[in-house]
Amino acid sequence: MNTKILIGVFLACTGSLAVSAQEGMKPEMSEFYEPVPPVVTPGKDLPGGGFTAPSDAIILFDGKDLSAWENTQGGPAEWKVKDGVLTVDKSKGDIQTKEKFDSFQLHIEWRIPKTIQGTGQSRGNSGVYLQGMYELQVLDSYNNSTYVNGQAGSMYKQTAPLANAMRKPGEWNVYDIIYTAPVFKEDGTYRTHPRVTVIQNGVVLQNNTMILGTTEYIGFPRVVKHGAGPILLQSHGDPSEPISFRNIWIRRM
Ligand code: MG
Repeated sequence: MNTKILIGVFLACTGSLAVSAQEGMKPEMSEFYEPVPPVVTPGKDLPGGGFTAPSDAIILFDGKDLSAWENTQGGPAEWKVKDGVLTVDKSKGDIQTKEKFDSFQLHIEWRIPKTIQGTGQSRGNSGVYLQGMYELQVLDSYNNSTYVNGQAGSMYKQTAPLANAMRKPGEWNVYDIIYTAPVFKEDGTYRTHPRVTVIQNGVVLQNNTMILGTTEYIGFPRVVKHGAGPILLQSHGDPSEPISFRNIWIRRM
């Protein structure tokens, strides 16, 4: 029996099994009513494309202050807050959330200054570190080429984004990030890798992408056992004008 015939017979058999299993069924026999998903009131649309937090989100930055954040030594976060916007202060280093997270949905909006200068990685570079470990790149990738696994929306030095969905400098970009935390074996290797889906301005950049390990500037990813971690925002050492963030919220999953 050749392969085509074998597949045909298999399909015929499974098809008839499926049909016989359906006999005598009523619509309500494949419907269930519990548990009822919680009601979540969605946020409001913002001018320029973002939207505010839904009712069950943890607010990380709502334009007022950095009370949810600290520096990486545990002291106060000292980036600049003005007119509802958070701007990187490169003299103060990275900042991270005080709270730690496992799997989550994160919303964060970011803006490259209209007057940005520089090229490649030295043009509006920042980053969102998932669980403080894995950098989702933030960069001005609007008419600015660099290595593709280092452009905006890349898992840095690992996976290039599926598209370049940048808005131009001066406009707000929106990241919606769905992250699944890894599970480790006792020996410190991954039982299941971390995974991430990233949507920028409504365009999918990462689709359930497997994260290979830490996002190193030099060398290959390392596997480092960890537990819950913060959201960390990068203060990058490039000389270009610092970028801004607004409207940052997260939902545990
Ligand atoms: Mg970066």
